[in-house]
Amino acid sequence: MTTCDLAGREAPGSPPAADPVPSAAPAPAAPATPAAAIAEQPPAGPGGHGAFSPDMARKDIPVLHRTVNGHPLVWLDNGATTQKPRQVIEALTTYYASANSNIHRGAHTMAREATEGYEQGRAAVADLLGAPAPESVIFVRGTTEAINLVAQSWGRDNLGPGDEILVPVLEHHSNIVPWQHIAKERRARVVPVPLQQDGQIDLDAYADLLSFRTQLVALSHASNVLGTVPPVREMTALAHRYGAKVLVDGAQAVAHFPVDVQDLDADFYTFSGHKVFAPTGIGALYAKPEVLRSMRPWQGGGNMIDSVDFGHTSYAPVPHRFEAGTGHIAGVVGLLSALKWLTSFDREAVARYETDLAAYAQQALAALPGMEILGSAPGRVAVLTFTLAGHEPAEIAEWLDQDGIAIRAGHHCAQPALRHYGLESAARASLALYNTPEDVDRLVQSLMRLRETAA
Ligand code: PLP
Repeated sequence: MTTCDLAGREAPGSPPAADPVPSAAPAPAAPATPAAAIAEQPPAGPGGHGAFSPDMARKDIPVLHRTVNGHPLVWLDNGATTQKPRQVIEALTTYYASANSNIHRGAHTMAREATEGYEQGRAAVADLLGAPAPESVIFVRGTTEAINLVAQSWGRDNLGPGDEILVPVLEHHSNIVPWQHIAKERRARVVPVPLQQDGQIDLDAYADLLSFRTQLVALSHASNVLGTVPPVREMTALAHRYGAKVLVDGAQAVAHFPVDVQDLDADFYTFSGHKVFAPTGIGALYAKPEVLRSMRPWQGGGNMIDSVDFGHTSYAPVPHRFEAGTGHIAGVVGLLSALKWLTSFDREAVARYETDLAAYAQQALAALPGMEILGSAPGRVAVLTFTLAGHEPAEIAEWLDQDGIAIRAGHHCAQPALRHYGLESAARASLALYNTPEDVDRLVQSLMRLRETAA
């Protein structure tokens, strides 16, 4: 079977290859589109997509129905941010049109309603992450702020001279720089954990680097540049043997597969709302309740206190002591709506669909002359970072944009990971549940035309 069997037609540049999508039972007629072929997978069994098809998600995303430069938009920049369902947009409008109020402090109906909505959002995040209680979730601006919070609060009290923070080379800058800041202040060290050539963390090196000096391991649940999904549970268990805490950056994970922080035994877990179909400016930090209770507040101000006096100030219980000032209330409303939307789908089926779509994209792209795709570790999320010989990544992104296709080019805020491959820049197509094989075909066809134009 070739990738064209997905579509009943030949995908551009696709070589004969292993079947990325298990065959459906014999059908009387070929499906009209690749998406239809995927949607017609049997409802159960390994590799089936069950009750999920990308059209179920697409119909809710208004922006996917616009044109860019005269072409229907193909959004393959989901690693940077995801598009928003109509339900999220309407939740924001309704909130501002009929329910806007500050929370906690008010004694009136609207303040109570806004507080309820905010706390429902917290409970929804706890559910999404499998957290033991809503109180173990803190609202933050996003992953970057969450990591800075942990570095400045937990780090300041738990790091000292000679201590080590282990950080894989894979990481986004937001999971490197905050550790460099606090390490410098506390005279601790940030120790890079090397990568293998396939983009997986070198687990032997990791085991060797762990020691009783290790206070923290900070690693992502899915890489934004290579798509690598490290064995977080095993790495966490190993770190715990040395008494080290583990922070997991879930920014690229939560939109792609179900997460269970208790199963991972993560001490901290964080994600950004905008990468999971919610607005920008809102995200969450989970921490184990006992860890959270041991941490000092990070920012001071309103909402986070119990009582203030010039002689002595006492703090609100967790999680409120970590939420100084007025939070992004509308953002939480949008996040709640986004999580309801995401979890209305069969998440295991979505993960299988994305895996198959990524395999389809990988095969179609790999067939292009001069194409190099970075990272080949098994079990990756749907992120394809690549170079095309003779074309700068920025040129590739500009070319594709003319065809209405949005990808990203640059260092992807992961310079150490790119330098592992001797690169300063690369192009990246990152997929989400609403992307289709037709989107992939449009990408590959446009890249083929770029090659032909240059020939
Ligand atoms: N971590 C990873 C793996 C990311 O991909 C990103 C953003 O791309 C971040 C952290 C930072 O997220 P934010 O900018 O939403 O704080």
